Amino acid sequence: MVTTPVQTTPKKRWRARTWFAAGAKRVYTPFVDPLMLDSVDEIDRIDGRSTGPNQLSMVSYHPQATVRMGGDPRTSVINSKGECHDVQNLFVSDASIFPTSIAVNPQVSVMAISMHFARGILADQDRYFPLTVEPV
Ligand SMILES: Cc1cc2nc3c(=O)[nH]c(=O)nc-3n(C[C@H](O)[C@H](O)[C@H](O)COP(=O)(O)OP(=O)(O)OC[C@H]3O[C@@H](n4cnc5c(N)ncnc54)[C@H](O)[C@@H]3O)c2cc1C
Repeated sequence: MVTTPVQTTPKKRWRARTWFAAGAKRVYTPFVDPLMLDSVDEIDRIDGRSTGPNQLSMVSYHPQATVRMGGDPRTSVINSKGECHDVQNLFVSDASIFPTSIAVNPQVSVMAISMHFARGILADQDRYFPLTVEPV
């Protein structure tokens, strides 16, 4: 489960104020029950809104760190070669393996770590691709 702290109301008020200061004509807030502000004088309307479960509309395009890489099977799922601690020959190679959120766009890191894992598999192919056909 991924958890992130929800903005506190003072921060939302501050952000709305920043948008108006930058020239915004209307500020759309992230509440599920829509709240639009048409001027800085309306910012107080945020105060009555809850930030509890299902009250905010939130989206993430970069989910990370749900199948963490690490040396300790008690705190991670895969090892530094991308192989699952508990299931041999099962590899995971995406943003889920980051130990935590890297806080930047993840695509290049995903590609880099995938190349690292692929090279590791090739370097150890006798183990991963054992000869199953007996030579005649
Ligand atoms: C809207 C949006 C914008 C983004 N913008 C950026 C950005 O600007 N910069 C950046 O660095 N990152 C960005 N990202 C994140 C980036 O796209 C991802 O981190 C990256 O694509 C992850 O790569 P991946 O190979 O792990 O997964 P994916 O690229 O999602 O590839 C997974 C592949 O597996 C296939 N698949 C799924 N299930 C199965 C199945 N059962 N059998 C066979 N195939 C299956 C899918 O069809 C897909 O081709 C963005 C993501 C989104 C959603």
